[in-house]
Amino acid sequence: MEQLVIGLFLILFVCEFIVEAVLNELNLRYVRARSSASDIPEFIAGKMSAGDYNQSVQYTLARGNFQRYSEAYGRVVTLVVLFGGLLPLWDRWAIALADALPALPYANGILFCFGVAFVYSLAGLPVSLYATFGLEARFGFNKTTWRLYLTDRLKGIVLGVIIGAPFLIVVFELMDNAGRYWWLWTFLFIAGFQFVTIIVYPILIAPWFNKFAPLKEGPLRDRILALGEKVGFKTSGIFTMDSSKRSGHSNAYFTGIGKAKRIVLFDTLLEQMTIDQGLAVLAHEMGHYKMNHIRRMLVVQLVFLSIALYLLSLLLEFRPLFSAFGLNPSNHAALVLFSLLSGPVTFYLEPLMNGLSRRHEYEADRFAALTLGDGKAMEEALINLTVKNLSNLTPHPWYSTYHYSHPTTAERIQALRGS
Ligand SMILES: [Zn+2]
Repeated sequence: MEQLVIGLFLILFVCEFIVEAVLNELNLRYVRARSSASDIPEFIAGKMSAGDYNQSVQYTLARGNFQRYSEAYGRVVTLVVLFGGLLPLWDRWAIALADALPALPYANGILFCFGVAFVYSLAGLPVSLYATFGLEARFGFNKTTWRLYLTDRLKGIVLGVIIGAPFLIVVFELMDNAGRYWWLWTFLFIAGFQFVTIIVYPILIAPWFNKFAPLKEGPLRDRILALGEKVGFKTSGIFTMDSSKRSGHSNAYFTGIGKAKRIVLFDTLLEQMTIDQGLAVLAHEMGHYKMNHIRRMLVVQLVFLSIALYLLSLLLEFRPLFSAFGLNPSNHAALVLFSLLSGPVTFYLEPLMNGLSRRHEYEADRFAALTLGDGKAMEEALINLTVKNLSNLTPHPWYSTYHYSHPTTAERIQALRGS
């Protein structure tokens, strides 16, 4: 039975790797062929210099090439963790270490989960360092200093511990004592936890990483407020965020729920866009809100979560799952194994979720065009974002269908012109 578990996992694991690699290679070839065969794609001709276009091609190729190695490396890490004897060893250590923390409930399980998370984060460090200080720096995007990078990582660990430990205690408590339907109670707990996070994140957590300042009085602010009034979007504030201290990439988003929701503009966006373009971006964001996109995505995620927890409750009883990886049955082992093994399954859900997200993007674009009278400003904003972020202008259709949460710029412009 153990062999069957391992065999099944390896088949799915290898399939995922092949699909990922083939998509990446197709995409790289496609971009290379297009960039050598012709000039700048028609939809953006005249709005992007030949130098910028070449730079966007180089950036895409460099990222694809990087993905080749980081993918393969990540696979090796997972195989070493699962089959290198690390899990059983760490499980024994966690039991021994837990004796030193008698006051902490479920210390053994918490240490085990944190230990595995720590191994992954340590193993991911070279990839993250190269992406930030190699790749992004080479194309002029990285603004993160070493000092900022280190404090970000440390803050991340601190947050992980002070939020993760109580979270795990509640989950273990429910798994132990809530009876047959523990998965349902755990689902309700996690759903509630997410709800609280949405409220708390912009007020308590985000300001720890970035400075937020109310958007200065002026034409942009006046026009955003007028726009909000027009479409019925009540907000507790419009803020700018000092994202330029980390990266030159630009964006805008809104966060929070109900009256507490706020609009956040990256300072990079304000620098790079005209008022009309910035307003179009905000009209698009308000479109997401007005059409309940965020709520809909949340519901889909909760459906997946409930299915995952139900499956976990079945797998808890399945002893060969534990013995296949040299572990004794326990709630914490089940939790960790489940999250490590579910990757090759959820991978196939990615295009579905992205398909839904792309539909929402088209709808929000249309909303912006209708609200502002026409699609011109939205189109200009998209082109501006594409040029400044050196986005891939010609992704392979299979690649973008699988991995893109947003339609390509060409697709979005075409849809805007058609509407
Ligand atoms: Zn959007």
